[in-house]
Amino acid sequence: MAAIPVHEWTLLDAARAVREREVSSRELTRALLERIDRMNPRINAYITILPEQAMREAAARDEELAAGGARGPLHGVPVALKDIFCTKGIRTTCGSRILHDFDPPYDATVTGKIREAGAVLLGKQNMDEFAMGSSTETSWFGPARNPWATDRIPGGSSGGTAAAVAAGTCFAGVGTDTGGSIRQPASLCGVVGVKPTYGRVSRYGMIAFASSLDQGGPIARTVPDAAAVLGVIAGHDRRDSTSVDVPVPDYLAATGRSVKGMRVGLPREYFAGGLDASVRTAVEKALGALVSLGAEGVEISLPHTEYALSTYYIIGPAEASSNLARYDGVRYGYRTEGAKGLIEMMSRTRGEGFGAEVKRRIMIGTYALSAGYYEAYYGKAQKVRTLLRRDFQEAFAGVDVILTPTAPTPAFRIGEKVDDPLTMYLSDIYTIPCNLAGIPGISVPCGMSPDGLPIGAQLLGRHFDEEAILAAAAAIEREIPLPRVAPEEG
Ligand code: GLN
Repeated sequence: MAAIPVHEWTLLDAARAVREREVSSRELTRALLERIDRMNPRINAYITILPEQAMREAAARDEELAAGGARGPLHGVPVALKDIFCTKGIRTTCGSRILHDFDPPYDATVTGKIREAGAVLLGKQNMDEFAMGSSTETSWFGPARNPWATDRIPGGSSGGTAAAVAAGTCFAGVGTDTGGSIRQPASLCGVVGVKPTYGRVSRYGMIAFASSLDQGGPIARTVPDAAAVLGVIAGHDRRDSTSVDVPVPDYLAATGRSVKGMRVGLPREYFAGGLDASVRTAVEKALGALVSLGAEGVEISLPHTEYALSTYYIIGPAEASSNLARYDGVRYGYRTEGAKGLIEMMSRTRGEGFGAEVKRRIMIGTYALSAGYYEAYYGKAQKVRTLLRRDFQEAFAGVDVILTPTAPTPAFRIGEKVDDPLTMYLSDIYTIPCNLAGIPGISVPCGMSPDGLPIGAQLLGRHFDEEAILAAAAAIEREIPLPRVAPEEG
């Protein structure tokens, strides 16, 4: 392992090396902080970097180990979090001006679990404002860049996390996914991203966008690394009433399972128009890999797929308009100066504090929920959501997992879609149905475009069957070896 630079190690190798005291947490943390110093000016993947605090945590983890005790599976391993997870006393911005200097009074459950597992927190990662976007261009802190080609977007909204992992600046990160925000950036940055079943990971302290869709999950360079992090953050939480009390299985063990006899559904609707030829070829290769290991490809239909995007863009904004009502300049966050009276203070605070995309969602959502339109828009969207969920239920009666592209194209250029919301929304066309149905999904690298950009395959599973998609993704990863750390001069 000595021949491989530290920043290219897998998380599991790093964890083992610390545990066996081949390397100290301080050495690992210092190496990655140096890597952040070198790479972050190019990719803008971090909003907040925590050098002193991370070194202090690393020293504490080293001492605990010397005294004979590892906290948990991530003991001494440097990781980072999307800046949507509350971190006590550490600025948590959600990519927005309105929270640009907000220091939460408590840790999110995910933050707490990462700490209990022994991980060292390197920093907070860039994201689209309030997780609304597919490119990280809506961030108040400027766009993150794709380390494979810095004139391109890293995807979004967890684009900072995916870019940071692909650039070797952390061993893993935790992102969130409301309509694709873990899987799409993972796909565009050539790394692995898991959107767990709704209710699998606690949303407590995770700043809300659309509460019935939001779910946190890992982004890492390998499937076993992602499985290890998922095992740490998953589980029931009394503080999130939508978190489900289902035992957490051994996800890491699932990555070693055989896929022989596995039935892999290929939804006709996901391989239709608008799909880039290089993406199609790469996903077909992923299928070939599974078939060569004894899995069986089965053509299926998810007939309501064409309604998913419009359903999402009613339900998502409706929930967002309600969740974002709390940013009023009264209790916390940004407040405008010199306003005369309460109404002017609130409207100017929100006018100055939110960016264009967030305002667009608040307006769409408020409209969809208003008297006279509620049934026509919101009520109807909920009914279509049920139809979409049934599509998956029926499909999973005959198959174990579903294989699709994660995104219709490889990473597009910065600026290319930012003024055209509809085109931007289309980049989540394959990821959104999964959130509406509440099922788990993963993106795993499966190829490269002719101009050297990563391509991901998406696997979808039954509710709480993350194990099947992890097994299939790990098999694809073993069969199709690809570089996981972007070259230094992308
Ligand atoms: N890109 C989608 C949106 O803008 C999904 C975002 C997400 O998953 N947070 O809503």
